[in-house]
Amino acid sequence: MAKREPKILAGIELGGTKTVAVLSRGTEIFERVRLPTTSPQETLHLLGERLGRWDAIYPIAALGVASFGPLVIDPGHARYGHLLDTPKKGWSGANLGPLATRLDCPVALHTDVTAAALAEGKWGAARGCTDHVYITVGTGIGMGIVVAGQPLSGQLHPEAGHMRVARAFDDDFTGSCPFHGDCLEGLASGIAIAQRAGKPGAKVAGDDPLWEWVVEAIALACANLRLTLACERIVLGGGVIAGRAMLVDRIAERTHALIGGYLPLASQMVVAAELGEDAGPKGALLLAALALAAHA
Ligand code: ZN
Repeated sequence: MAKREPKILAGIELGGTKTVAVLSRGTEIFERVRLPTTSPQETLHLLGERLGRWDAIYPIAALGVASFGPLVIDPGHARYGHLLDTPKKGWSGANLGPLATRLDCPVALHTDVTAAALAEGKWGAARGCTDHVYITVGTGIGMGIVVAGQPLSGQLHPEAGHMRVARAFDDDFTGSCPFHGDCLEGLASGIAIAQRAGKPGAKVAGDDPLWEWVVEAIALACANLRLTLACERIVLGGGVIAGRAMLVDRIAERTHALIGGYLPLASQMVVAAELGEDAGPKGALLLAALALAAHA
């Protein structure tokens, strides 16, 4: 009997500054294009063209789109595929829908952090886990949540980067979030760190006392997530975390202390991300695979 060829999957990671589109046979990527994220008109037009060209040569079986948010991911919603209010200039209200309707194949749309969570679960720091969370701590804080191997999607998608956490008792920073002030993102994001320090986060020394407040806020979020989701692992990534292994160790240690022995915890519950920049496009391919499986 002839071996069945793996299906062709397409994945798009639409990021705040760059966009990556990939084409894979199964999970093996064989085409990749990277372009700057400019205006929605230009970027979506170029992506649509590229998908059309690829599809003419290698008929695409499913497409996964991983985008910055917030965006409407419920296919039953009238504004499916539209971005909501976003700080990314020109993109509020942009419609990603034409990317989906251009191809005659199943499509899955989700956030870039959710795609990264799926990829870390398949190939990275949460390999083998069916219930895990990926937290990116960069300019903002985003979370992707995977429950029973599926991305968690409610009315919208998780926006747990804005959860409220108690601040450290000696932390009097008012917070940087324009909506909530001292939510998690307002206390511990790259913007918050820069505002606390009065200089870019990259220039803040590893032994600066402000890290204690950042650790406290993120560890509280990790403890809350563990207690809410009973997740097996929490993966920390993003520009603030990258290259700061000590920060991950301190957050892990503090999370265990906050749980206070109430639940048995694996020693490796809070860990550093492993996939780096590839998590987005690879996760978009996993979204495509989920879309294909759902239509099988
Ligand atoms: Zn907030």
